[in-house]
Amino acid sequence: MTMPDATPPFLPFARPDIGDAEIAAVTDALRSGWVTTGPKARAFEEAFTAYLGGDGLQSIAVNSATAGLHLALEALGIGPGDEVIAPTLTFTATVEVVRYLGADPVLVDVDPVTLNIDPEAIRAAITPRTKAIMPVHYGGLACRMDAILSIAREHGLKVVEDAAHALPTTWQGALVGRLASDATVFSFYANKTITTGEGGMAVTRDPRLAERMRVMRLHGMSRDAFDRFTSKTPAWYYEVVAPGFKYNLTDIAAALGLVQLQRLPRFLERRQHLARRYHAALAGLPLVLPADAPAGDVHAWHLYVVRLAAGARLSRDELIQALSERGIGTSVHYVPLHRHPYWRDRYRLAPEQFPHADTAYRAMLSLPLFTAMHDAEQDRVIAALHALLG
Ligand SMILES: *Cc1c(COP(=O)(O)O)cnc(C)c1O
Repeated sequence: MTMPDATPPFLPFARPDIGDAEIAAVTDALRSGWVTTGPKARAFEEAFTAYLGGDGLQSIAVNSATAGLHLALEALGIGPGDEVIAPTLTFTATVEVVRYLGADPVLVDVDPVTLNIDPEAIRAAITPRTKAIMPVHYGGLACRMDAILSIAREHGLKVVEDAAHALPTTWQGALVGRLASDATVFSFYANKTITTGEGGMAVTRDPRLAERMRVMRLHGMSRDAFDRFTSKTPAWYYEVVAPGFKYNLTDIAAALGLVQLQRLPRFLERRQHLARRYHAALAGLPLVLPADAPAGDVHAWHLYVVRLAAGARLSRDELIQALSERGIGTSVHYVPLHRHPYWRDRYRLAPEQFPHADTAYRAMLSLPLFTAMHDAEQDRVIAALHALLG
């Protein structure tokens, strides 16, 4: 007789939710004879546009959100000498694409409650070189888009939303993706609210921007392979109109995305359920809980970021370690960009310039929250936090 294992399996910080329907859809794509960008990628774009409510929007499927952000800024003409304002509390992908184009990101601080980019900090950072603003809907909570869009209009700036966390998120009742910005980019990376393994979607209402992004997505070619395969003009003929990139999404990935998109309403309910349970169960502990969306708006709950309150028994690093010893994975979103050697040294950044982001960073951790997580697994996290902090 073997002894039952006393330690439960390690609970990861995130795990993708991929079921039989996804596996069947990918199998179908593999058997179809068309694995690169083709009918499924096109169907995924159409389904995504429909999900956002259609109405003049265009969706351009890409192989990562990073690629989509790059394409959007390129299509907007961002180049050497230009400045693009972005929050320091984000993933490096948001602003590395600014450097791809030879432009300079100008990092600014966040609001201490929402941890989203602070519109007043944007205003203070505008110079004659400023060309664009990149709001990041941190954790799945919308930025103050009314204020950001009005600053942009006032100063003639472009707005590209990094919506990697924001599917689905609403701002004043409208889904992120259909707001009045120039482009919005979603991520389907493994731990995002839907996944294609790797993938992303750039969305815009501007037909010229959409056209430029489509051309640059595939080598600057005037027709993609599926177009050539299906149209009546000779399949072998295409024209290169620009030195483009290789950013197209495969049909294998798109097949996965089509199923995940159908499941998104259920995914959202599950994330909202888990967030509500954390709210209720952690309220008495020395933790600052994440801000909710304003009444009537949707928080995507990609992340559940708590901050240790002053006077807690453990430091943030000790808490992460103690949870890990109890078989619970956590993460930190993010080490702010001003603390990474490249950004710090390139732009001579210091923590004092970003007091809210830096203070939040030192106190924060992201708790496990994913749709495939069971209530009983969440209860382990809650019990561990009570044991360690209560
Ligand atoms: C995940 C993420 C990205 C990059 O997404 P990829 O699809 O992995 O390129 C960009 N910005 C933020 C805020 C992210 O979390």
